[in-house]
Amino acid sequence: MSEHCIIIGASHAAAQLASSLRQEGWEGKISIVGDEPYMPYHRPPLSKAFFVGEKTEDELLIRAANFYEKNNIDLLLGCRVSRIDRDAKKIILQDDAEIAYTKLAITTGARVRKIPFKGSELAGVFYMRDLNDVKQTHKFTGKGKSAVIIGGGYIGLETAASLRKIGMSVTVIEAMSRVLQRVTAPEVSAFYTRVHTEEGVDIRTDAGVDAITGDQHVDGVRLSDGTTIPADLVIIGVGVIPNIEIAEAAGLTIDNGIAVDEHARTNDHDILAAGDCTNHYNPIYQRKLRLESVQNATDQAKIAAKTICGKLEVYNALPWFWSDQYDLKLQIAGLSQGFDQVIIRGDSESSRSFAAFYLCEGRLIAVDAINRPKEFMTTKRALSTGQTADPIKLADDSIDIKDAFTN
Ligand SMILES: Cc1cc2nc3c(=O)[nH]c(=O)nc-3n(C[C@H](O)[C@H](O)[C@H](O)COP(=O)(O)OP(=O)(O)OC[C@H]3O[C@@H](n4cnc5c(N)ncnc54)[C@H](O)[C@@H]3O)c2cc1C
Repeated sequence: MSEHCIIIGASHAAAQLASSLRQEGWEGKISIVGDEPYMPYHRPPLSKAFFVGEKTEDELLIRAANFYEKNNIDLLLGCRVSRIDRDAKKIILQDDAEIAYTKLAITTGARVRKIPFKGSELAGVFYMRDLNDVKQTHKFTGKGKSAVIIGGGYIGLETAASLRKIGMSVTVIEAMSRVLQRVTAPEVSAFYTRVHTEEGVDIRTDAGVDAITGDQHVDGVRLSDGTTIPADLVIIGVGVIPNIEIAEAAGLTIDNGIAVDEHARTNDHDILAAGDCTNHYNPIYQRKLRLESVQNATDQAKIAAKTICGKLEVYNALPWFWSDQYDLKLQIAGLSQGFDQVIIRGDSESSRSFAAFYLCEGRLIAVDAINRPKEFMTTKRALSTGQTADPIKLADDSIDIKDAFTN
């Protein structure tokens, strides 16, 4: 049988993997099978520029339509893969059609975590993951209308900023005692609470949701303390779970995601995986990670393509991430989990530009840089190359950030 690499999921990772396969010299057939009806598209603008109408659907595409044609990559869209038969080396689609592979890549990403709030089936209640979800929200947005966002994580806060931009009144409900609690330092949470409040968002922390109210169409959200907040639109953003079910059913090892080695291989070396659905060992942080970021999807896909082409390289990229809200560009390099010290460079209490450096036992592990591209770039390089940071210089905004690091 001639070589055929099938990629499951028309995702960020899939677009990169298919393109890298051709770059690495794969001459066999390539097929991307995705259950959404769209060619691989950028998800980050869904809560940002696309949400407020500053980007069109065409501008979301990761690669132009003719890219796939030119590179002889088949797209099977609107097709869900229901099963992998590893013995026969084929995938089975929902309509029972079968396609044989010699190499298989799973890039099925993640799906939203659904919480069965009373009333979550009402019209006007949405989750934010897919283009279809966001296209439907547009019917419920508009100047003067009100929105409640359940969840004060990045997606919730980005959505809040976007809705303010189009003149809606916005309330964010967060169950924990501060927004972004799982991912940032208290100083950064306080900063985002301040800016959102300045921009007119009502942020309620330590707030539980009792029910989403309305008759057919949502009209409000009732909190556990009995208060009801009026809403024409409710957006729930409370995290995602990896799409691992077809891998698990095929007997691949699962460990908080599809377990892959440093070459993006599952325990079946003809099956690889990349992106949000995977769990891999990161040599920089010396622990296993399941990341939810474009950086991880694309970088891991490049490694997977090399592996498929017989060029084994280790995946050891430094994780990085961004979030855009109002005039704030947050850029994160590294992972802050486990920090025991935070150093603030600049003024987080009254300005809109500062950096928060995270340390663990005296060693720098991550930075959150807000409107500070130089701090982001310099720290990203330093973390990737293992440079040492001087905490006093990190904190001193009058010293060039480059001088805070030594080899
Ligand atoms: C609103 C929003 C904003 C974001 N903002 C940022 C940001 O600012 N920065 C950042 O780094 N990241 C951001 N992210 C996260 C980022 O988009 C994800 O990390 C990235 O999309 C992961 O890519 P992936 O390749 O793993 O899979 P995904 O992009 O999740 O795609 C997986 C695809 O596989 C399909 N699929 C699943 N199962 C099957 C099956 N059995 N058969 C066929 N198809 C299947 C899914 O439907 C989906 O189309 C954001 C995400 C969202 C939703």
